[in-house]
Amino acid sequence: MQKGLIIKSTGSRYKVLVDGKDVIQCSIKGKFRISGGIRTTNPVAAGDNVMIEIDAKTGEGIITEILDRKNYILRKSSNLSKEFQIIASNVDRVFLMISLTMPATPMEFVDRFLVSAEAYRIPVSILINKIDLYDDDLMEKANDIVRIYTKIGYDCRLISLKEKTGYQELYDLMKGKITLLSGNSGVGKSSFINILNPSLSVKTGEVSEYHKQGKHITTFPEMYEMPFGGYVIDSPGIRGFGLADMHKEEIYHFFPEIFKVSANCKFHNCIHIDEPGCAVLEAVESGEIEFSRYKSYFNMVMDENKKYR
Ligand code: GDP
Ligand code: ZN
Repeated sequence: MQKGLIIKSTGSRYKVLVDGKDVIQCSIKGKFRISGGIRTTNPVAAGDNVMIEIDAKTGEGIITEILDRKNYILRKSSNLSKEFQIIASNVDRVFLMISLTMPATPMEFVDRFLVSAEAYRIPVSILINKIDLYDDDLMEKANDIVRIYTKIGYDCRLISLKEKTGYQELYDLMKGKITLLSGNSGVGKSSFINILNPSLSVKTGEVSEYHKQGKHITTFPEMYEMPFGGYVIDSPGIRGFGLADMHKEEIYHFFPEIFKVSANCKFHNCIHIDEPGCAVLEAVESGEIEFSRYKSYFNMVMDENKKYR
C-alpha cells in the first residue's frame, strides 16, 4: 500500500502521483460515495489523497481508499442532469480569472461563483486579466471592481499575462498549496498555467465552452505541479460550479456584506426582498451595499423561487 495524490480523473481512470515524482495509472476498486445522497460521475478527483496497491505484473495501481477530504467542489455534469462531477478536492484557494473584454465576464457569474466559494469557505482571489486591452472606460470599470470586491474582503489583482504584470505576488499564495484556477473560456487560464510552469505547454485559445453547454461535460480538470511547490488545478468553465443544494433563505449568508448588515433587519427571517424594516434594502439605498451585488443576490433568490413553483 502506498499513498498517492490524484492529479487527473477521467471518470474511470486516474493518474496518481506517488512519492512526489512517479505518475501511476490507476483504476478503482469498489464503490465510493460522497455523503448527502448526491450522485456523482466520478468518485475521486484531482487533489484527493488516496491509498493505492500496485499490481506487480502490469505496474498499474488500484485505488483502495480515499483519505479524508478538507473539501470538494462540485458542478453539474450537464445543465439538465441531476448528476454532479467532483472537479477538485482539498482546495486551499480559488483564483477566479475574469476579463472585461475579449471575452467580457458577466459580473453576475462572478457573484454566483463567489457564493459557491463562500459556501465551501474557500478564499478567493479575483484576477482581472488582459488589462493591456482596456481603454480608459474599461480601466475605470476594473478599478471599480477592485474597490467593490476588496471592500467585501476578496483579494483582487489587475493583471496582464501578455505584458507579464500583476501576478508575481500570487506565487506566495500558491506555494505548497492546491489552487483551483477557474474562469470563463478565453480569459487566459491556460496561458497563466504555461507562465507558472514553463515546462508545460497547455493548449491556449481553445474553442469556447459556450458551444458545449447542455451537453455532457467530458473534460476533467487536470492538476499541474508548480516548480515553486504546490499545485494548480485548471477548471474548464465556471458555469454550474456550485453547490448541490442551496435554499433561498440561506443565499444571503454567502454575500458577506449582505450577511453583515442583515443582523439589523427587523425580522430575523428577513430575506431582504420586500420586508419592512429591512436593513439590507436600506444599505442598498444608501450605497453601502453595491447595487450590482444586490441585483445578483435578488436574481439568485428569484431563481430558487422558480425551482419550487
Ligand atoms: P483559457 O480559455 O481561459 O485557457 O484562455 P487562454 O489561455 O487559452 O487564452 C485565450 C486567449 O487570450 C489567447 O489567445 C491568449 O493569448 C490571450 N490572452 C491571455 N492573456 C492575455 C492578456 O493578458 N492580454 C491579452 N491581450 N491577451 C491575453
Ligand atoms: Zn432584510
